Amino acid sequence: MSTEPVIEIKDLRVEYKRGLGLKPLVAVDGLNLRVERGEVVGFIGPNGAGKSTTIKALLGFIFPKRGSVKVLGLPAGHTSAKRRIGYLPEVAVYYPFMKAKELLTIYGGLAGLRGEELERRVDEVLTMVGLKGRENELLKKYSKGMLQRLGIAQAFLGDPEVLILDEVTSGLDPVGRRDLRQILLNYKKQGKTVFFSSHELSEVSLMCDRVIIIDQGRVVEEKKISDLMLELQSFEVVVRSPTPVVLDGTYKIEKSGDNLYRISLTQKQKPLDVLTELIHKNYEVIEFGSPALSLEEYFVKVVGKKIS
Ligand code: ADP
Repeated sequence: MSTEPVIEIKDLRVEYKRGLGLKPLVAVDGLNLRVERGEVVGFIGPNGAGKSTTIKALLGFIFPKRGSVKVLGLPAGHTSAKRRIGYLPEVAVYYPFMKAKELLTIYGGLAGLRGEELERRVDEVLTMVGLKGRENELLKKYSKGMLQRLGIAQAFLGDPEVLILDEVTSGLDPVGRRDLRQILLNYKKQGKTVFFSSHELSEVSLMCDRVIIIDQGRVVEEKKISDLMLELQSFEVVVRSPTPVVLDGTYKIEKSGDNLYRISLTQKQKPLDVLTELIHKNYEVIEFGSPALSLEEYFVKVVGKKIS
């Protein structure tokens, strides 16, 4: 199997023209990223960070000022790569007087599917996204979540090698998100690749292997989810004491209430060491454990502001 990345962006710069006399707006500024075959990668950043612009450049919808953008080894927008890509736009607009099955049949036809294969595939994707049984209702009766499911079905229609999804979790309720996670996992099991953008952090981290964080048109962080989780793992001990807690180790100790002190451990510090020392020194330990992971805090640290 080829070791070539499925997505490769080098030094991408995209500018949007503004009014006469104004400097162009730099939406993407020297962006580099790679996505390998079989990876599920979340592309995360605050609104206006440049996610949609990058995705549009990946699909060849806009022309960069500078840089190279390749999907499946071919330049963005190349016809033979397009057929192997499934794409969900940030805002998909469908005709309200059409039905899901009709719409998917048209799109399937455009993707080159015919006859029985087309019928089978439409049926498969409807089942996959949970719209089977609702396929002959008018789309104007669909909820936002159902329309998003339809968009996902459409992206999967041509059995693509790579899926590129823009703000895929938007409009999905918790059940929709759980279903989507399962769909993406099944797809990944087939060795396929997913690249999706989002400004919703906790959901995304449940769905992907790796996150690429973008802000102001640049990649500011890249991390495997497993490493991120490890980084966020921490241990805390709460001690009741009338006097400030004094320990030998260099622990972070904060007063957290009347006669209460919170001791936070870094990843390198062993919980057993601090507990032993506290007990030895007769401190009253009233609580210990791992506080809930705070992805939000992590992203605020990386991007310098709240993302969603
Ligand atoms: P994101 O998807 O992360 O929200 P976008 O790629 O949509 O970010 O936008 C990046 C920047 O480019 C923003 O400042 C946005 O206002 C600007 N922008 C996006 N599309 C256009 C456009 N068609 N014309 C002018 N400016 C745009």
